[in-house]
Amino acid sequence: MTELLSDAKIVIIGGGIVGASTAYHLGKMGYSDTVLIERGKLTSGTTFHAAGLVGQLRSNANITQLLGYSVDLYKTLEAETGQATGWKMNGGLRLACNQERWTEVKRQATTAHSFGLDMQLLTPKEAQDLWPMMNVDDVVGAAFLPTDGQANPSDITLSLAKGARMKGVTIMEDTEVLEVLVEDGKITGVLTNKGRIACEKVVNCCGQWARQEAKKVGVNVPLVSVEHQYMITEKIEGITSDLPTLRDPDRLTYYKEDVGGLVMGGYEPNGIPWAVKGFPEKFHFSLLDSNWDHFEQLMELALGRVPALETAGVRELINGPESFTPDGNFILGEAPELKNYFVGAGFNAFGIAAGGGAGMALAEWVVNGEPPYDLWPADIRRFGQAHFDTDWVRKRTLEAYGKHYTMAWPFEEHKTGRPNRRSPLYERLKEQGACFGEKLGWERPNWFAKKGQEPKDIYSFERQNWFNNVGEEHKATREAVTVFDQSSFAKFKLIGPDAEKALSWICANDVSKKTGSLTYTQMLNDRGGVECDLTVVRLAKDAFYIVTGTGYATHDFDWIKRNIPEGLNAHLVDVTSGFAVLSVMGPDARKLLQKITEDKLDNDNFPFGSIRTIGIAGAPVTALRVTYVGELGWELHIPTEFAASVFEALSKAGEEVGLRNAGYRAIESLRLEKGYRAWASDIGPDHTPIEAGMSWACKLKSDIAFKGRSALETQIKNGVKKRLCCFTVDDPNVVLLGRETIYRNGQRVGWLTSAGYGFTIEKNIGYGYVRCRDGVDMAYLKSGSYQLEVGTELFDCAIQFKALYDPEMQKIKQ
Ligand SMILES: Cc1cc2nc3c(=O)[nH]c(=O)nc-3n(C[C@H](O)[C@H](O)[C@H](O)COP(=O)(O)OP(=O)(O)OC[C@H]3O[C@@H](n4cnc5c(N)ncnc54)[C@H](O)[C@@H]3O)c2cc1C
Repeated sequence: MTELLSDAKIVIIGGGIVGASTAYHLGKMGYSDTVLIERGKLTSGTTFHAAGLVGQLRSNANITQLLGYSVDLYKTLEAETGQATGWKMNGGLRLACNQERWTEVKRQATTAHSFGLDMQLLTPKEAQDLWPMMNVDDVVGAAFLPTDGQANPSDITLSLAKGARMKGVTIMEDTEVLEVLVEDGKITGVLTNKGRIACEKVVNCCGQWARQEAKKVGVNVPLVSVEHQYMITEKIEGITSDLPTLRDPDRLTYYKEDVGGLVMGGYEPNGIPWAVKGFPEKFHFSLLDSNWDHFEQLMELALGRVPALETAGVRELINGPESFTPDGNFILGEAPELKNYFVGAGFNAFGIAAGGGAGMALAEWVVNGEPPYDLWPADIRRFGQAHFDTDWVRKRTLEAYGKHYTMAWPFEEHKTGRPNRRSPLYERLKEQGACFGEKLGWERPNWFAKKGQEPKDIYSFERQNWFNNVGEEHKATREAVTVFDQSSFAKFKLIGPDAEKALSWICANDVSKKTGSLTYTQMLNDRGGVECDLTVVRLAKDAFYIVTGTGYATHDFDWIKRNIPEGLNAHLVDVTSGFAVLSVMGPDARKLLQKITEDKLDNDNFPFGSIRTIGIAGAPVTALRVTYVGELGWELHIPTEFAASVFEALSKAGEEVGLRNAGYRAIESLRLEKGYRAWASDIGPDHTPIEAGMSWACKLKSDIAFKGRSALETQIKNGVKKRLCCFTVDDPNVVLLGRETIYRNGQRVGWLTSAGYGFTIEKNIGYGYVRCRDGVDMAYLKSGSYQLEVGTELFDCAIQFKALYDPEMQKIKQ
């Protein structure tokens, strides 16, 4: 077999827009020993038939920034490479046809303002002035983003490929990767139909084929193919080339100008999966048969908006398959299953919009081992065990496809593929009125319905139907005692003679305490950013038990595993399924638990921050004296098969002290009042504990070295440029949901990272970073006056410097 190239460092598989953009950026970073391999011709997979709309606004600031990067790149790419891109910044319009959609659009406009985009609200008439061919009889209002645009997908890809070649990257078309070669867990090369290429790193940019490619090396990429159609018309009188792109979510459709005619496509509720039984061979520059019967539902909706479509000639109904994912976001990053194997796939029909930025982020990830900034919503590690089964992935993905343009309600839950992962108490809690939410496949009680009340969320942008139930659960936790089923917590054990040494390096807080102690800690990256936020329990000299949030199971396991310093003897095991967790929280928690255990729970025998194995109802229960709600309490970690017995004992004894069930929405309200930070919103890889006001949880007073320490020390010396602050709004009519814009003295300084309602203090609560290039200190924070923009309206708010609810800490600790 011929050795094609022996010294490539990086091989990219797939020559669509994502592979080409990754190659372009690697070339720009000086990695000319990169080879891009495409089995057909460049663009011949999905890219060639994309419609080419380029929108920017997403619900996450960094993903929005990534799409903004695409726009900036597309503006200049043609000048740089000499290859046309078809880029046109003609702006993007979004319509609202009912009051609730209008509320959503206004909230999106505020999100855009939070992220620095100039999204303008328009009257129906103003929108029609920009798009004269449309009927606005049913339009309540519209939003316009002038910097959105459209491009020619194939041209952009060829331009990126040309730019990559100009920087020395090799592009091989008509070459198929048959196998990724792995020896002793290390990538050594790829085998193609033309020979072998040695390499150190592989980047899977195979679009809808990425799942089957990755599976060959044991990597799980949760995506499936779904048919997606759009129609192209002949020229229509009055359609001009400067026409903005148009999204009409209430009619499930989108439009763009195309050589004097229109492209019109949409997202039907009953999407059709493709390639369920496998892909056909040689599917290059190939389309599926037009499905007019299926498209009719969109056509009918579109005719109401653009009557000219009735008489317009139809050039083509494009039916192309595209890869979609269970949560509608794309998949980026290094696979947790295989070092140096990277993925950029699953672009949910916004691969052209995302391609420029995604290629940049992926190239940096490949070179530096981390993305340029936190990309958690797209991170491959957001998936887990529930995403392994293709049938489950397909069900959930089809649901997400159908919801592309439906209202994105606050607190909305998925419907398909449920129930999947169930705590041993699921059926009991269901009988007791639990309304479940889902995370990483786990069913988790969000709140409990009363007798006669249906345990079902009724969505709205106002206070939702569960508000009072959650208020009662909240108060019961503050005033008496409640039990939360938190069995979905991710749980790991780190075992081995060097376990302490390893965790001392990885954890920012001091975990080298005596057996039986518990430490709340962050794990930091080299920039001091918070990668994990979790609890570490010392079980023995050589054994630690680690508890983290449900959604972070894959991410945190991966972070800990890859950061165990080389040569240390410490092994990480996932024991999530081994333990159910019941959290018993509230001032009466001790009184209740003492009724069902002979082990002593008083403060001398069982102080705050410690763990003991106690006997309850025949079970050996590991009890953790800890709280995330700001009350006296214990997390009971129970070997799964004993969970029912312990719950029964608790319930029985609980009758005398008024024990109530409570759910995750009460936890959220309780933690907001107490000021506990939540990972992935208030804290994350881009925020340090200093910026988040959590330096108290870092062992900076000790001389123990830990990952991220020097970044924190530099920050302490130089000061910070942003700080997490707490805000309250007294007006009971305001509903804070997160992403609202923060203004200080009339200037935009940030946005809310999380928000909700505090039932004890009876106020709206929001957390968010206040940013200032010249630095942010207490004097700066105290000297400002603050407002929040909520759905484009401004409301006065108060900045708070103390925890909003602070029962004397002694109460929790005694
Ligand atoms: C009808 C339709 C309309 C769309 N409209 C828009 C739009 O308006 N705006 C927007 O932003 N996005 C749109 N999209 C989405 C966009 O087209 C995709 O997200 C994007 O093209 C995906 O690019 P990719 O590089 O990930 O995949 P692809 O373009 O599919 O590239 C993957 C490549 O990998 C190659 N490959 C696979 N396996 C191997 C192997 N073993 N060896 C070598 N090569 C291999 C394939 O041949 C293929 O060329 C639309 C999609 C469709 C279907």
